[in-house]
Amino acid sequence: MFDLDLHLHSTASDGTLSPSQLINKCAESGLKVVALTDHDTLDGIDEAIFQANKLGSIEVIPGIEISCSWNGAEIHILGLFPSLSNSRLYGYCTKARKNRLYRSKKIVERLQQIGVEIEFEKVIDLAGDAVIGRPHIAKALVDAGYVKYPKEAFDLYLGSSHVSYYPSSTISPFEAIDLLLASNALPVLAHPMRSKVKSGRNPIKNLSKLVAEFRHRGLQGIEVYYADYTDDQIDKLSVIAQDNDLIECGGSDFHNSGNPGEPQPGTVGPPMENFHKLKDRLQ
Ligand code: AMP
Ligand code: MN
Ligand code: MN
Ligand code: MN
Repeated sequence: MFDLDLHLHSTASDGTLSPSQLINKCAESGLKVVALTDHDTLDGIDEAIFQANKLGSIEVIPGIEISCSWNGAEIHILGLFPSLSNSRLYGYCTKARKNRLYRSKKIVERLQQIGVEIEFEKVIDLAGDAVIGRPHIAKALVDAGYVKYPKEAFDLYLGSSHVSYYPSSTISPFEAIDLLLASNALPVLAHPMRSKVKSGRNPIKNLSKLVAEFRHRGLQGIEVYYADYTDDQIDKLSVIAQDNDLIECGGSDFHNSGNPGEPQPGTVGPPMENFHKLKDRLQ
């Protein structure tokens, strides 16, 4: 088992464990340091830190995962250690929350047009206070009996190549890097390659070239140890990290999604020394 997991989700976005439940699970798994990286929100961070302080055996790194679009593809940039009082970052989160609500409505309308009978109100209920995402729509599809588990909903209805797809992001990865640096966060490129169990997301084109451009803009890390990445994927990403002087990050990207084979917290991650390397890069 590993001590460090730098990519986790809670009910503040599309995870299904509350921040406290997530931290309890991580501590039980023997993790010592974890980053909560919910999509486009910092809402779960205070509760996660509070719970970690209560337990005493685990430390929480504040984090966020920003959804970006680039040449029609989706790229995610993590921010580790953002300031929790940066108005520009909060402004971005408020805007992203609104965009995601609008976009979810569009996706549900498009599903209804092809005869898939789920109600937007149901999806809103499922999301509760969370920043809404496609996994909430996936859950509505599971509950309505269209699919057995959320991943199947992505394969059949919610993937980016499906007719019901509607993009979410308004920000480019370069803008996300700027935004994160302005809030004193370390920008980290998330899941640069395809993962079998996590998603059918398309791989990033011209990865090495793009990473060099991101590095130039201020990228500090790249996910190398991620979910079910193979040794070959890890080796390739490690070379890219070394070539660009990026810190090797990663984690389970755990959502407690109910998908079969979901990587659990503590089963994958970078060595603990990389936590200290990250801290050394903080100004
Ligand atoms: P959204 O942020 O609304 O675009 O939804 C993306 C989220 O859906 C990701 O963060 C994952 O949690 C989940 N997801 C994306 N693709 C898949 C997939 N193929 N199978 C299962 N979950 C997925
Ligand atoms: Mn997610
Ligand atoms: Mn992601
Ligand atoms: Mn994630």
